Amino acid sequence: MKIGVLGSGQLGRMLALAGIPLGHTFAFYDAVLSPSTRGLGERCSGPFSDIAQLRAFAAPCDVITYEFENVPCQAAAALAALKPVYPPPRALEVSQDRVVEKEFFRSLGISTPAFRAASSAEDLLLALQELGTPCIVKTRRMGYDGKGQARVSSREEAARAWEELGSVPLIVEALVPFSRELSVIAVRSTDGQARTYPLACNIHRSGILHRSEIPAPRAPQKLIQEAHDIAAKILNELSYVGVLAVELFEAGGRLVANEMAPRVHNSGHATIDCSVTSQFENHIRAITGMPLGSVVSRAPAVMYNVIGTVPDTQQLAALPNVTVHLYGKEPRPGRKVGHITLLSPSAEDAGAVELLVRGAQ
Ligand code: AMP
Repeated sequence: MKIGVLGSGQLGRMLALAGIPLGHTFAFYDAVLSPSTRGLGERCSGPFSDIAQLRAFAAPCDVITYEFENVPCQAAAALAALKPVYPPPRALEVSQDRVVEKEFFRSLGISTPAFRAASSAEDLLLALQELGTPCIVKTRRMGYDGKGQARVSSREEAARAWEELGSVPLIVEALVPFSRELSVIAVRSTDGQARTYPLACNIHRSGILHRSEIPAPRAPQKLIQEAHDIAAKILNELSYVGVLAVELFEAGGRLVANEMAPRVHNSGHATIDCSVTSQFENHIRAITGMPLGSVVSRAPAVMYNVIGTVPDTQQLAALPNVTVHLYGKEPRPGRKVGHITLLSPSAEDAGAVELLVRGAQ
């Protein structure tokens, strides 16, 4: 099949690297093309508002998918009138607005932080009074990697946050006293079969994912089941096709949903090396109508993001059980340029990888 991907970054790259061996070809459409997908298929640049150009892009494709969740809903809807678009455009609508997303979770009985919508500085103050401080204040739309958010503990900080976040509609969330951050990645096929990867345990630095461990250590079966149920509710409600990720907080032995990503996810990158079938291959299998592959892990794994600067790949490659994945991007501060996976991590090997990755930053 010919798979059209909206977006052209590293997730598109890893989708193509998984899909090409299955006999598929790829085409990428992006406002600004990323070097990550060079050589992996046709590439077309244009604004997402140019529906005529998007239609021309989609015409020779058998199926359309996307690798980032801020694809404009109008673009996805216009393409869905022509070709199958997976995951379904409604997943974009839900995930693009943090208030809609949390209301959606609640409608399915999924716990979220207490929250309020705020469309003015006065609303924000009222929300702080109702929720108590500190609160996390985030833009409703277009936030990612910890951008577009602030922690607010006082009226003064609220006024500053309103200005600094651009005087745009906000969500105000109660601070969740979580013990750790987890994510669940699941995949659903066109015939409604679903599979869920082992939980990942995630550590962020400066708002960006730094380290992800699969399976999350010391996760009781009850917690794993709760995560599976959360993913299943969302998948079924949206008649979802493809890979979905849900970011979760573990607090008091229960799970609280933070957000969902209707796409392959950074916390699932280790599945390339540790799972029988990676999240990328399973996404491709799902959207092309193939049977899903096994989500079982062959070995425990830890993934480290490579951010800003490329570490010494010679030294990394010399470590046992390490695989290096670079995305072909020019390094610059804060940019994800690759990731490193360590299988069956000993504390010693994990320490060595961590040192090399951190040392480069
Ligand atoms: P987000 O952009 O929503 O993924 O938030 C980025 C990070 O901020 C999360 O990974 C958490 O570490 C933290 N965070 C976000 N929302 C909350 C909350 N309601 N309570 C506590 N920490 C939060």
